[in-house]
Amino acid sequence: VARPHVVVVGAGFGGVGAVRRLARLPVDVTIVDRRNHHVFQPLLYQVATAGLNPSDIAQSVRGIFQDHENVEFRLASVEGVDFDRRLVHVDDGLPLVYDYLVLAPGSETRWFEIPGVEEHALPMKTVEDAIRLRGHVLGQFERAAADPSLIKEGALTFVIVGGGPTGVELAGAFVELFEKVLARDFHHLDVGLARVVLVELTDHLLGGFTPKSQRSALETLRARGVEVLLGHGVDKAEAGRVHLSDGDVIATSTLVWAAGIQPAPLTAATGLPLGPGGRIAVEPDLRLRERPEVFVIGDVAGARNRRGELYLQMASVALQQGHHVGRQIGRLVAGRDTRPFRYIEYGTMATIGRNAAVAELAFHIRLRGAPGWYAWLLVHLVRLMGFRNRLSVFFNWAWNYFTYDRSARLIIEVGKPASRRGRESGTGSHPPP
Ligand SMILES: Cc1cc2nc3c(=O)[nH]c(=O)nc-3n(C[C@H](O)[C@H](O)[C@H](O)COP(=O)(O)OP(=O)(O)OC[C@H]3O[C@@H](n4cnc5c(N)ncnc54)[C@H](O)[C@@H]3O)c2cc1C
Repeated sequence: VARPHVVVVGAGFGGVGAVRRLARLPVDVTIVDRRNHHVFQPLLYQVATAGLNPSDIAQSVRGIFQDHENVEFRLASVEGVDFDRRLVHVDDGLPLVYDYLVLAPGSETRWFEIPGVEEHALPMKTVEDAIRLRGHVLGQFERAAADPSLIKEGALTFVIVGGGPTGVELAGAFVELFEKVLARDFHHLDVGLARVVLVELTDHLLGGFTPKSQRSALETLRARGVEVLLGHGVDKAEAGRVHLSDGDVIATSTLVWAAGIQPAPLTAATGLPLGPGGRIAVEPDLRLRERPEVFVIGDVAGARNRRGELYLQMASVALQQGHHVGRQIGRLVAGRDTRPFRYIEYGTMATIGRNAAVAELAFHIRLRGAPGWYAWLLVHLVRLMGFRNRLSVFFNWAWNYFTYDRSARLIIEVGKPASRRGRESGTGSHPPP
C-alpha cells in the first residue's frame, strides 16, 4: 500500500518542526526550500556583529534529517500550488504531488513603500543579509581609517530603524563591537566617533513587553551610548542620507531596516484568500476550510488564540505549530479527527548586550540585567539545533565574554539582496567595502 506523501514548503522553524514529527510516522515526506539550510534567525544579529559564524546558526536540511529514510529534501523555489490536482510547482524540476501539504514559507522584509528605503537600506532576514551587513559595517571602518574626512559624511554613523527585539539587539551589539573590539583593531582611527542611532516610530522600544522592561531596555541602551530616537519615522532614504519624519536629516552610509515583515510572496501566489496582515486564514486545527488536506503554519498563518487575536510571528509559535501539524497528520493517517492548536506561552526575551537583557517568562517571572542575560543565553543555546552548533556557540560566547574578542570579523562579498537583483539600484548608499 502506498504511503501518504506529505510535502512541506519551507525549512524554517515551522517546516522543520513539522518534519521532525512526520519523520516518525508511516508517511513519506518531501521538504522543499530554496535554501539548503535551516536558519536560527534570532541569532542572525550575532553573525552581523562578528560574534558568531554563519555555520553556528544554520544547519543543512539534509543533515538534520539524514537519519530518516522517509524524509527527502528538494532544493527549489516553490512558485505556486495547484490545489485541485494536488501539485506543488517549483522553479527547477518536476512538480511534487502531495496527499497532505504543509505551507510554511515564513516572511520577508517589509519596506512600507517609503521612498528609497528598499534601494538603500540593508535588511536582516537571511544569513546572506547578516554576512553582507557585517562586511558593510567593517568596511565603513576601513574607509574611515583610509580617509577620516568621510566620518563627517556619515561613514561611521549607523542608523537602525525599528525598536523591536532585532533593532535593540543589533544596536547593543554594534556598540560593543565598536568599543571593545574595533577600538583595539584600528590604531589610528578615533572609533569613539562612531554613532549608533536607533529610530523607532512609537514612543517605546520592545513593543509587546511590559513598560518596565521597555524602560529598562531604553535606559541600558542610552547608558551604553546608543542614540535612541523615539516617535520618529523615516520619510525617505537616499545615497548617504536618511530623512526623518520631523525633518531631520542624518548623514549615514549605513541604514539597517529592522522595522517590519510581511508574508513571503508565495502566500499571495497561492491565490488563497488573505486576511489581516496578508496572512492565510486557517481553521483552529491549522487546516484550510476548503482544503482539509492543506495546513498553513508559522509567520504566514492567520491562526488566532482563544481571545481571537492573531498569534505573534515568532519562532516559538511556528515551531509549536509545526509539531502540532505533524501530530495531526499522524491522527488523520490513523483515521482519527484533528485537534485544535493551542500555543503554550513560555515567554519572550530580548538581549541588549553583555550582562543586560529583559526576559518575561511564564508564571510572571520577570528578569532584567544580568539574570535576564543568563536566561537569554541558556534558552538560545538550548533552542539551537544540533550538538555541534550548541558547542560552537557556547565556545564562541565564552571566548567573546572573557577576551572581549569577536573572531568572525571577516569582510566577504555576497552580492545584493535577492529583492534587488536583476535591476539597477541607483547610486547606492553603500560603497563596496
Ligand atoms: C532578525 C530576526 C530575529 C528574530 N528574533 C526572534 C526571536 O528572538 N524570538 C522569536 O521567537 N522569533 C524571532 N524572529 C522571528 C522568527 O524567526 C520567525 O517568526 C520564524 O522564523 C517563523 O518561522 P516560519 O517557519 O514561519 O518561517 P521561516 O523560519 O522564516 O522559514 C521559512 C522558510 O521558507 C523558505 N521559503 C520561503 N518562500 C519559499 C519558496 N517560495 N520556495 C521555497 N522555499 C521558500 C525560506 O527560505 C525559509 O527557509 C526573528 C526574526 C528575524 C528575521
